[in-house]
Amino acid sequence: MKEVLPLFVFIDACGWEIIKDRPFAKAYAPNRKRLSSVFGYSSACVPSILSGRWPVEHRNWCYFVYDPANSPFKSLRALQWLPERLTSRRIFRRWLSKFIKVRLNFRGYFDLYNIPFKYISLYDFTERRNPLQPGGMNRGPNIFDYLEERSIPYHVSSPDRSEKDNLNALANDIRDQRIDFAFLYWPGLDGLLHSVGNQSPEIAVKLATYEQWLDHLLSLSKQHYAEVWLYVFSDHGMANCDQLLDLKAKIDALPLKMAHDYAVVYDSTMARFWFFNDRARQQVINCLNRVQEGRIIPDSELAGLGALFADRYFGELIFVVKEGVLIVPSHMGKRPIRGMHGYHPSEKQSYAVLCTNQDKIPEDISAIPDIYRLMTRDAEDANARNSLGKATPQQAIKSQQFHTQPTKCNPPVEA
Ligand SMILES: [Zn+2]
Repeated sequence: MKEVLPLFVFIDACGWEIIKDRPFAKAYAPNRKRLSSVFGYSSACVPSILSGRWPVEHRNWCYFVYDPANSPFKSLRALQWLPERLTSRRIFRRWLSKFIKVRLNFRGYFDLYNIPFKYISLYDFTERRNPLQPGGMNRGPNIFDYLEERSIPYHVSSPDRSEKDNLNALANDIRDQRIDFAFLYWPGLDGLLHSVGNQSPEIAVKLATYEQWLDHLLSLSKQHYAEVWLYVFSDHGMANCDQLLDLKAKIDALPLKMAHDYAVVYDSTMARFWFFNDRARQQVINCLNRVQEGRIIPDSELAGLGALFADRYFGELIFVVKEGVLIVPSHMGKRPIRGMHGYHPSEKQSYAVLCTNQDKIPEDISAIPDIYRLMTRDAEDANARNSLGKATPQQAIKSQQFHTQPTKCNPPVEA
């Protein structure tokens, strides 16, 4: 029997608003706190949790950027001549995405989404590594680099496996008492919320399944570890999309030419622009200022969100829509979906959650990147206690200091 297992269970899109009035996981993790999210999609939030840093620091923000010189998609341009009724179909795009991912050796999540083949060679894809692995960040280390450096044995889910398979894989490591830290990732709720929205009765069913799995994990863990420090947390919530915005039609109506005057990525809640002349910049700004459903985010505000990039790598101008508005069609999808996230972090449904069986959540744990500090602190403490006898007094003192003096990390401005 080992001393301690810190068990971090990440439920994608399990927002504060989703669970605040439900008893979800209260039996296992009664201490709850609302956390601020990070501006962006899971492509930004997950790396921020895993690294304790903000997008401007780790440079994992939005998937597609205008970068023709580095585009790996040049060969796909020829597909523009195939009939659109074929190339815009999800099944075709999914199959092609899988094929490209292997060919280009992309290690993270990859999807071509709805990027038109006519323009695909203008774009690069920014998540080439897997953030759930050591060396997985675009810049700097993540929790798995941290654990490897200190030779702390850990378990992490693989995005290629199903939720149930990941659960079973963790159960095996717990039975073997091999690990001093576990990071379990369940993405299923996110997918469900996207398709049914946050009011569907299916949400309660899914949450009940998660509770059963937590119950199973905890009772198993208690057979092999004297203490289990459980944290159940999320990256963001999910808003229902009740209003559609055809932003592309408004921009296309301007006397400007895409790829000559400007480039754009239409995410589902954001539009990111690059300009090649001042006329284009002014016309697009004037057009966006007339769109009631959203607004241009000023640089000072982006800086406060940790998303102002000095080199404008992810776009020179960022437009975001109000919660509940969905940009359709976008480069993410041709058809509407019921739920979406990626709105401003101050919108109601953006807030994430942290639930734990620990008595105290330190006050300075207030945004999702702060979870990283809980992970490093607990991993070190558990490792020291599990290897009791092997641990030096210095290690014990160090871990004690970490427990009592966590430092706050505010979103920085890129130098
Ligand atoms: Zn999602």
